Amino acid sequence: KAKDAGRGRCMCYEPGMDADRETRNELELDLRQAIENGDLRVAFQPLVSASNREIVAVEALVRWNRPGHGAVSPDVFIPIAETTGLIEPLGLYVLRRACEEAHHWPAGVNIAVNISPGQFRNPAFADQVGAIIGETGTDASRITLEMTEGYLIQNPERARQAIDRLKALGLRVALDDFGAGFASVGYLRQFGFDRMKIDRSLVLALDESSRARDMLQATVALARSLDIPVTAEGIEREDQAMILHLCGCDELQGYLFGKPMPAEAINAIFAGTDGAGAGGRSAA
Ligand code: C2E
Ligand code: MG
Ligand code: MG
Ligand code: MG
Repeated sequence: KAKDAGRGRCMCYEPGMDADRETRNELELDLRQAIENGDLRVAFQPLVSASNREIVAVEALVRWNRPGHGAVSPDVFIPIAETTGLIEPLGLYVLRRACEEAHHWPAGVNIAVNISPGQFRNPAFADQVGAIIGETGTDASRITLEMTEGYLIQNPERARQAIDRLKALGLRVALDDFGAGFASVGYLRQFGFDRMKIDRSLVLALDESSRARDMLQATVALARSLDIPVTAEGIEREDQAMILHLCGCDELQGYLFGKPMPAEAINAIFAGTDGAGAGGRSAA
């Protein structure tokens, strides 16, 4: 169905279009295979408390090693999954894997999973999530589903309903990539978000101007005035971590604290067998 709509879009000729479509079709076929064969992997990245640097949550990030091509970025294949319906099995797989691994983590460590509009647009989504939580014996309140603003703008009423259904299960929802698009702090309250994640682009902007810092500080203050905690993403340097902490972010995420890593590596950190003492932690 989604495929037919995709075909309908390409009515006029553009140079290079055939090649692009060919590549996309091949990607789609291979991705479908990977999902069917269980070849997708999930990487796990820590989120730390800004005040004491302890791990407070872990984000699940899908990984695809495409045979003959190597690693493909989620930024490339997630959009394809979204337009072909593959996002539904993919998303449920990632959620299930995260819930399974969470048994190896301290109970206070939360689980963050990204979801796409194509998933929660389906009215059955909340039931599917509920089934996975039940089957894996996961405490729903540990799970935060991260979503970007796209669908909120397209279809605010239905988005609000979908979010309400998820929250009724006891899950939390976060607005991801804040600052990369058009979402305003008002969205946080309008849609009932429990958390805001500041996009890496705003963190990078700190290097460019001092106004960027003022704007970031004001944005975080607004969110916190609504009692909505804030995570900053993409932190690679200590000075960034310090500024974001001073700006009021309560959680930090980025290569400085740990890259996305295989399940065994994150589990080893919690088991204290990763070789890194408390504080210093440099995952590959
Ligand atoms: P996101 O949810 O905003 O995830 C953060 C991205 O930033 C991840 O990229 C992560 O690897 C990367 N990152 C984290 N710390 C740093 C850092 O310090 N520096 C830099 N340069 N990058 C950092 P990744 O894994 O390539 O994922 C990209 C996007 O793809 C995600 O952005 C998310 O929107 C989407 N995605 C990933 N996994 C899934 C999934 O299972 N389902 C859905 N629907 N989307 C997913
Ligand atoms: Mg995310
Ligand atoms: Mg993000
Ligand atoms: Mg993103």
